[in-house]
Amino acid sequence: MNEPYTFQTNLLHNKHKIDPTTGAVSVAIQHASTFHQKEIDSFGKFDYSRSGNPTREALEEVIAELEDGYRGFAFSSGMAAISTAFMLLSKDDHVVISEDVYGGTFRMVSQVLTRFGISHTFVDMTDLEAINKAVQPNTKLFYVETPSNPLLKVTDIKAVSDLAKKHNALTFVDNTFLTPAIQKPLTLGADIVLHSATKFLSGHSDVVAGLAVVKDPALAEKLYFLQNSFGAVLGVQDAWLVLRGLKTLHVRLEHSVKAAERLANFFAGHPLVNKVYYPGLKEHPQYDIHHSQAASAGAVLSFELRDEDVFRTFVENVEIPVFAVSLGAVESILSYPAKMSHAAMPAEERAQRGITNSLLRLSVGLENPEDLIKDFSNALEKVKQTNLNDDRG
Ligand SMILES: *Cc1c(COP(=O)(O)O)cnc(C)c1O
Repeated sequence: MNEPYTFQTNLLHNKHKIDPTTGAVSVAIQHASTFHQKEIDSFGKFDYSRSGNPTREALEEVIAELEDGYRGFAFSSGMAAISTAFMLLSKDDHVVISEDVYGGTFRMVSQVLTRFGISHTFVDMTDLEAINKAVQPNTKLFYVETPSNPLLKVTDIKAVSDLAKKHNALTFVDNTFLTPAIQKPLTLGADIVLHSATKFLSGHSDVVAGLAVVKDPALAEKLYFLQNSFGAVLGVQDAWLVLRGLKTLHVRLEHSVKAAERLANFFAGHPLVNKVYYPGLKEHPQYDIHHSQAASAGAVLSFELRDEDVFRTFVENVEIPVFAVSLGAVESILSYPAKMSHAAMPAEERAQRGITNSLLRLSVGLENPEDLIKDFSNALEKVKQTNLNDDRG
């Protein structure tokens, strides 16, 4: 398009808003696995759907534009996107990676890549000195998740990308928590942005999908080779669902971020809450860095309740959010990192990182925040009643 419209408008008015052959205002779902070739010596644009499919391509083009990248790739899950991107590495390479990275990424790096001779060092990515110390002569990749999961620690994307360039290494950023509506890592120096599109991008808890966006054409060609070689591509129905979900990304996040800010303040002021992790709170240790690289604090926060008894009573009495893994949906989702997203992490490593047994993560949905506050107040009120009864008994 000629005009530089805003992200909000571009979500709807992109190259794929009208089907060029029928005028349909929704991308057609192309189920074909194979495509008839008219000539013997030169094949058409599409030949086989693992290698390329028009519906998947629409999604890949849309996400590439939204992330300000060169080329996008859609995978069958966030982990498929992440794992395929890791295949850019070779035997004897080394990865420097956020210590409180997503549990599935932790598992991939620590239990799968190691079998192929790819080593790693987990570091506190908020600490540039620690990152520097972790670098080895064979370091080829800096892997960042910011804000991290579940403690919402913030990494300076530009500083890490600069360091990576100095060492001739790549920078990958998992942008699942914020999406390009809030943060665009490629504009800050990252080479590849990764997504679990299962979360905010699709937004309705009804599809599992992954995306990658690359900035450099030569690197994009390498990732395309791997996508086609490994073959963990996204199915067309699911590609369509992600495209559908993307249209409301801006309005969903606008509501949920505002609600998350209110809830973070509510929890921060509650006597039964030890600690709130949310980059929207002034006391967040990387508040300034976060707001220099992201447009808002996002819709995910974590909070630690006073102890495990309080935690149990709270979870048993909360009514509105679903108690489940995942995040980034229309309904609020309350998760228990120790037993859910980070179950793949050994207990002592969890404890070391501050992922205690009374820590909860909340992904704020589209409910009226007043109702959520009422629900959470009531559940915490039950703790006091239970305690009183215990004292009497
Ligand atoms: C969910 C998630 C993933 C994994 O994505 P899947 O779609 O479940 O495979 C990766 N990173 C983050 C931050 C996530 O929340």
